[in-house]
Amino acid sequence: MTDLHRASLTQLSAALAAGECSSVELTRLFLGRIQRLDDRLNSFISVCAEQALDEAHAADRRRAAGEAGPLTGIPLAHKDIFCTDGVRTSCGSRMLDNFVAPYDATVVSRLKAAGAVMLGKTNMDEFAMGSSNETSYYGAVRNPWDPARVPGGSSGGSAAAVAARLVPAATGTDTGGSIRQPAALCGLTGLKPTYGRVSRYGMIAFASSLDQGGPLCQSAADAALLLQAMAGFDERDSTSIDHPVPDYSAMLDAPLSGLKIGLPREYFGAGLDPAVGERVDQAVRVYETLGARVREISLPNTTLAVPTYYVVAPAECSSNLSRYDGVRFGYRCEDPEDLMDLYKRSRGEGFGAEVKRRIMVGTYVLSAGYYDAYYLKAQKLRQLISDDFRRAFETVDLIAGPTSPSVAFPLGARLEDPIQMYLSDIYTIAANLAGLPALSLPCGFVDGLPVGLQLIGDYFTEDRLLNAAHRYQQETDWHERVPPGFDESSQAVGEGD
Ligand code: GLN
Repeated sequence: MTDLHRASLTQLSAALAAGECSSVELTRLFLGRIQRLDDRLNSFISVCAEQALDEAHAADRRRAAGEAGPLTGIPLAHKDIFCTDGVRTSCGSRMLDNFVAPYDATVVSRLKAAGAVMLGKTNMDEFAMGSSNETSYYGAVRNPWDPARVPGGSSGGSAAAVAARLVPAATGTDTGGSIRQPAALCGLTGLKPTYGRVSRYGMIAFASSLDQGGPLCQSAADAALLLQAMAGFDERDSTSIDHPVPDYSAMLDAPLSGLKIGLPREYFGAGLDPAVGERVDQAVRVYETLGARVREISLPNTTLAVPTYYVVAPAECSSNLSRYDGVRFGYRCEDPEDLMDLYKRSRGEGFGAEVKRRIMVGTYVLSAGYYDAYYLKAQKLRQLISDDFRRAFETVDLIAGPTSPSVAFPLGARLEDPIQMYLSDIYTIAANLAGLPALSLPCGFVDGLPVGLQLIGDYFTEDRLLNAAHRYQQETDWHERVPPGFDESSQAVGEGD
């Protein structure tokens, strides 16, 4: 096999099982690509070459002993929000630039137990706050489809790295769209599971009632493999749900005949780039040819999702981020005059502008005089948004629409206008507020830039989402496209092993 760098996780798993390559070979191949190509993208914050090769050797030994599973020996990267024992976890912030966790997040330990090899930690918006990956302390990430454009955020490092095939798949987190929106902008398949499906233990908290980890992959089949290892009850996360984990790969090929798909009219109105809308319409027609029945539905409270989120998420973040006080861990200012000076300067110097904006908004909406007017009101609206979905799922099985209102935008284009940036997530945020699973998959291009189709399902229907995405991917090849400039054969550049 000469094109291992562009092979899917599923294909790599088969190649390892057939003895066509070893984990050490794969690990060297992808480490070489990161070293050679990531200057153009800035998608990694930390690369752990030595540790990765040790893990790869261990995976090869495990395979030789007949103890390999589907992920044994597969190279992966983790968003730098997941704590990793002994490897820095920065969360994209100066505040945690020096932080080395003494333990692994559950997502990390589960993938490690499955035999996956961690190549490194990917760049992200600071504390996962952003839609463009421009708020990272480590600099912006570039989109491999056009390096003058953003990869989306906040899991933009993971998305750019997978799209450029610097790593076959990666983890991400999604609080308001941070797996799906970068997946859409980079041409990947990204899944935000049901709230409680994947443990948040060791995943640095942004907005605890919304945060959820999930896979960023080349295809739905790959996402099924990764989710299989990530999902499941964890007694260390009090919001983890003890619900059986189905065999996601086994469901992929199920026929779609009779599947009822709803198109929310609110997702196709003003604000949507018409060219993006057209690609989504074409994807919906593919579903019709596969036997799905499509009808228009209404999610009447859609316009409330962004304002509701920007009360709830900052409120929770202002509380979660109070732990960064310069005392116990993370950044501490030089020569504080007294304790108050230590708090003020450590936080003032350690956090970036967007994080400070959110902490201030959050503190404001939780303050005694404004709690009822903002926070309590937002909680009520959150319920109305969930009710919209509950009613919709009485008549349809899946909801389809665009993931993002536009394709990837130029770097810097929305930095001066936070509201414009916040509207990037207008179609993704409601699923987080309701706790529903949702997936983005590539459905075409506009001017050479990928477009994402979003599918939203009822609680714990990840299997159906993956099934619907997989069937579409058997009919189309959008998900197999690799950005020009990142697709030269590995043999041709002398990295064969
Ligand atoms: N873009 C949204 C925000 O800035 C969502 C981020 C996320 O999902 N982590 O908050």
